[in-house]
Amino acid sequence: MSSFDAILTQELADLEARHLRRRLQGVEAVLPGGKIRVDGQILLNLSANDYLGLATEPRLIGAAQEAAARWGVGSTASRLIVGTLALHQEVEEAVAAFKGTARAVLFNSGYAANVGVIAALVDRGDVIFSDKLNHASIIDGMRLAAAAFYRYPHRDLNRLEDLLRQHRQARRRLIVTDSVFSVDGDLAPLRDLVALKERYGAWLMIDEAHGTGVFGAKGAGVAEAQGLCEAIEVQMGTFSKALGSFGAYVAGSAPLIEVFHNRARSFIYSTALPPPVLGAMRAGLEIVQQEPARRRYLLDQASLFRQRLQEGGLPTLTSESQIIPVLVGDNARALAYAAALRQRGLMAVAIRPPTVPPGGARLRFSLSAAHEAEELAQAAQTIVQVGQELGVGAR
Ligand SMILES: *Cc1c(COP(=O)(O)O)cnc(C)c1O
Repeated sequence: MSSFDAILTQELADLEARHLRRRLQGVEAVLPGGKIRVDGQILLNLSANDYLGLATEPRLIGAAQEAAARWGVGSTASRLIVGTLALHQEVEEAVAAFKGTARAVLFNSGYAANVGVIAALVDRGDVIFSDKLNHASIIDGMRLAAAAFYRYPHRDLNRLEDLLRQHRQARRRLIVTDSVFSVDGDLAPLRDLVALKERYGAWLMIDEAHGTGVFGAKGAGVAEAQGLCEAIEVQMGTFSKALGSFGAYVAGSAPLIEVFHNRARSFIYSTALPPPVLGAMRAGLEIVQQEPARRRYLLDQASLFRQRLQEGGLPTLTSESQIIPVLVGDNARALAYAAALRQRGLMAVAIRPPTVPPGGARLRFSLSAAHEAEELAQAAQTIVQVGQELGVGAR
């Protein structure tokens, strides 16, 4: 073996020894009812982000096919060159109407949005304040910005206020938070964040990747549910989770959106989203607004599921969404838990450091409106039983 491969192989072996090595798991088929086939076995998929079951919805598939037939499968250029099709503009207008903002802009993914947006808004001499449990794409976005950044303890408004006070002199201050935290499944204290940013003259950016389609009367997110859309300067969200397809948006004022057209490098230097994706985006936005029963069912089921796990003695942390973690702690035990569930027909991936803090390994269950109530009840029972066998949650 070349020394190049030997060095990398050693690195992988080190990860293996700490139970931190990750491997790709191929999915052989996507089946109705929120199920998948893996290695010949049919599993209830409790690890996907397809919260409303739209990824396989015939109306989204049809819209994607229609857009491809009419516009082709590629957008042929980046947005500022000749990649802005009428379809991009239609979807952006639909997002602005959905979010109740003046304008909106699409990004190629949630990751691309977060790495582009932050650096477009803050520079040297500015300061960013970020919740410690924010998504990795926000962290990467902060690394790309020349501004200083501080990570405050999860949902700790006192610490955030101290930081805001200490940095009164900074040119611009930007607070960034997930609205629904992706591994704990809890919500940001948006109302208090809005009050704080107003008191200190800071700006607020929220990431509604897990909130869009799930929270709010229209499904526009946690900001909508709490009546705060107008108070939040930068509202980012994705089409890749509850909306069933791919891509992301940022909604806000007209000058905000034009600043992104001019300064967000991930927007400027990447080929525009392709027509089939835009077709699916548009159909997803319509269905989410027309069919609120999907999200009501999802949140009702999530609350039942959480209650069943808690009654079974499992620690579900502070979850209050369709994302329900069970804290295990030890990496090897989290892997054993996931493997035992898989033998019983449940797909739930163990989330380990660095995605979570050291000692914070867990299973993360994400529910979908595609799941039958009966099957979720059965799944909760299995999870409790296996958890008890493995001593999860025991003191
Ligand atoms: C999934 C996720 C993203 C990334 O979105 P993609 O469209 O998958 O790139 C960003 N932020 C949060 C909070 C997420 O959960």
